Amino acid sequence: MIPKKIESAMNEQVQKEFASAYLYLSMSAWADANSWPGMATWLRAQWEEEIAHGMRFYSFITDRGGRVDLKALEAPESKFTSPLDIFERALANEQKVTASINDLYELAQNQKDFASYPLLDWFASEQVEEENSVGQIVDDLRRVGDSGEALMLIDHRLSTRTPA
Ligand code: MG
Repeated sequence: MIPKKIESAMNEQVQKEFASAYLYLSMSAWADANSWPGMATWLRAQWEEEIAHGMRFYSFITDRGGRVDLKALEAPESKFTSPLDIFERALANEQKVTASINDLYELAQNQKDFASYPLLDWFASEQVEEENSVGQIVDDLRRVGDSGEALMLIDHRLSTRTPA
């Protein structure tokens, strides 16, 4: 059986992953509307990845005899000012998710819930990757500033991402 406190915290995490998904989809819509097709593609792939993250917790709760309890999702932010604005917000979002995974880890330790460790290990590594990849895009966008030509190169590079 899954400890009640872990079940409850993982249900919160399902909500956070789906809220991330919703935010990335909103960013993708902005990118489409502002003619950044590569960024739109990248952000939509990220949307799918966040759904998969939420479903990992969902399945884990279910597999351990817990009860998935889906929470409300607020409307995501939709007013963005630039590609840099989008990716800075994405980085801040990933840092928030990392903190929340760390809190889950601490809870699993306190509850001596060893069965959660492999799942949380996977998420801890995944967050290193997420912060690294989004952080690299933020660095690139800061470096090129308002150069249209360079922004188009970045947009093209982001277009090559395929959903995991
Ligand atoms: Mg995630």
